[in-house]
Amino acid sequence: MIKGFRGTSLIDYPGKIAGVIYTYGCNFRCPYCYNIELVLPEEYNKLEDIPEEFILQELSRRKNFIKGVVITGGEPTLWGKRLINFIEKIYYELGLSVKLDTNGSNPDLIKVLFEMELLDFLALDFKTSPQRYSEIGGDFKKVAKTFEIAESKPEKVEIRITFYPPLVSQKDLEDMLPYLRNFKFIAFQKYVPGKTLERKEVPLYSQDFYIWAKNLFKEKLPHAEIVERF
Ligand code: SF4
Repeated sequence: MIKGFRGTSLIDYPGKIAGVIYTYGCNFRCPYCYNIELVLPEEYNKLEDIPEEFILQELSRRKNFIKGVVITGGEPTLWGKRLINFIEKIYYELGLSVKLDTNGSNPDLIKVLFEMELLDFLALDFKTSPQRYSEIGGDFKKVAKTFEIAESKPEKVEIRITFYPPLVSQKDLEDMLPYLRNFKFIAFQKYVPGKTLERKEVPLYSQDFYIWAKNLFKEKLPHAEIVERF
């Protein structure tokens, strides 16, 4: 399940020093993805699996220093029950809060984690407008269901939008807005060209586009806090 671990991070868990765990495998293919070694089987098969017990020991050693654990990927929810069992150990045995990063494709699992009160924070990606999810291998019906579950806990959820121009146009943003009405935290993330899944050069947005987008969101979602990660 796990192919990567960072003992300490100051930036991955809002307000907390955290350990970061990287699961492998993903059911989406976002062209701007930079976690190639966790997404493509021919890449992650080259990496050693890290046993869950080893990770728990490493987290335990840092227990007086870290306050939380971020589980990211890849797409962690692909691991189903095994992920739930692992999070239970982190939460009950080590007493650490858990933040989970997801593409939203497994609403049933998110529902269970919330019902079991195992999640302190959920970072949920909103990749593009609903009608374009198939372009990245996703099924928006499932993602929409995750949104419905997540909006019952707005204080525990951040929606993340990566401004990759071919997937997040002016029209895409306008089509995404109705799904965001009940969320409190929305993060704008800049697309950074580099070693990504699809290595094609795309023209980047100017600062004016981000200003336009922020103004649009502020106007249409007056209760939301927009965080810019640029
Ligand atoms: S969902 Fe995340 S890990 Fe999967 S391809 Fe997209 S950016 Fe990469």
